[in-house]
Amino acid sequence: MRKFIMSTIFALLTVVMFVTSSYAEVSEDLLQVHFIDVGTGDCIWIHTGDDGIDGNGRMEGYNIIIDGGDWGKFGRANAYNTISEYLGQSSRLPFGSTIDWMILTHPHSDHNGGLHGVLRDYDVKNILDPGYDKTNDEGVPDRLRPSSAYGRFFIAASTEILQNGEKANFIWGNAESTTLNWGSELVVDVLWSSRELVHGDLNNVSIVIRLSFKGTGNDISFLFMGDAEGHVEDRLVNLVGDGLETTVLKAGHHGSDSSTTIDFLQHVKPEHVVILAGNQKFGGTRLPWDGTLNRIQTVSNQLNLNTQVWRTDRGDKTPTVIPVGEEVGDDTIVAITDGRTLNINYIDAPNTDPDVDPNRCQGITRAGEQCKRRPSSGGVLCWQHRGN
Ligand SMILES: [Zn+2]
Ligand SMILES: [Zn+2]
Repeated sequence: MRKFIMSTIFALLTVVMFVTSSYAEVSEDLLQVHFIDVGTGDCIWIHTGDDGIDGNGRMEGYNIIIDGGDWGKFGRANAYNTISEYLGQSSRLPFGSTIDWMILTHPHSDHNGGLHGVLRDYDVKNILDPGYDKTNDEGVPDRLRPSSAYGRFFIAASTEILQNGEKANFIWGNAESTTLNWGSELVVDVLWSSRELVHGDLNNVSIVIRLSFKGTGNDISFLFMGDAEGHVEDRLVNLVGDGLETTVLKAGHHGSDSSTTIDFLQHVKPEHVVILAGNQKFGGTRLPWDGTLNRIQTVSNQLNLNTQVWRTDRGDKTPTVIPVGEEVGDDTIVAITDGRTLNINYIDAPNTDPDVDPNRCQGITRAGEQCKRRPSSGGVLCWQHRGN
C-alpha cells in the first residue's frame, strides 16, 4: 500500500516538477551510470538508454542497482538516506518505480545495508545474490537473523511483492549462470561469483560484472568488481585475459591494498578508475590505500593510458584528525555514454550553464529550481535549472 500511495504522490510531484523545473537533463537514449556517494560503502545506479518504444527489447530504460551502502552503524552513514535523496526525492527515479535488477555483490553491510529501504520503496523485479552466508558464533546464518544487515536484506528480498501482486524473482546463488538482459544494445557478462570462499575471504564471493555495448565502434565499457580482491583478479586474468580491457573500472574493495593488482590493471587498461570510499575506516585502515593509487599511476604511465581516478571520498575529513561522521552525497560520480563517447564527472562539478546561479538555491526544491542538500556540510548543491 505504501508503494501505491508513494507512487501516486510522486507521480503528481513529477508532473509539478516537469512543469516548474528541470535539472541536468540527460538525453534518454544514453546509458547512465551513477556511482552514488554513500560514504564508506558501494552503491551504483545504472539507467539504460530508452528509445521511447516499450517492449522492443532494446533501450528499454531499465534501472539496475548494484549494492546499497551501509546501514548506519559503527560511525557509518545510513546509505538509504542518501540513496533516497538522490533517486526518489529528485525526479531521477521516483519512489514506486520499477527497478529491473538489484545486484548484491556480496553480503557485507557496506553493500547490503541500504538495500532494505530500496526494496521497501521501489518495485524490484529481479534480485541477484551470490548465495553465500556466514554464520554467527552460535552457528546461526545471518539470513535468519533480522538483526543483522544481511538478514534484513534477505528477508525483504525473499518476500518482495510487486505492485501487481507478483512475487519478485530472487535468485540466491547461481549468479554465474544467470543471464542478465539489460537490453539488446548491451552485453552483460557475469565474470565472477562464488559460493565458496576464495582464500577465505567473503569479499571474494563478489559478483563481478562487465557491461559493454554491441556494435562496431561502441567501445565504452564498465567493469564492476564489488569487493573482489587480488585472488579473484588473478583468476579473471587467467579466465578472461585480454577480454578484461575496460574503459571504466570500479575498483575492487574500495581501493584497498588487496585489490587492483598491477597484473590486473595491465589487462584492464582502464581509462578511468572509480573508487567508492568514505572517511570511516575498514579494520583500522582508511581506504583507498596509497599503494593502490600508486599502482594505478604506475600502469597508467607504463601503458600510456592517462588513467583518471574518481573518488567518492574526495575532500572528506579524516575522523582521526577531526571527529566527523560520514560525509556523503557530495561526491557522486556520473558516467554518461552512447557507447562511443564517454562523459564522466562529479555531479557537483562546476556548472557552466549561464542560467545557473548557485547562490540562489536554498532548499531541496523550490519553484523553478532543483537543489540538493549536502547532508554533512549543511550546504546546498544546485542542479542545473532553467526558468520556464
Ligand atoms: Zn565493501
Ligand atoms: Zn566486502
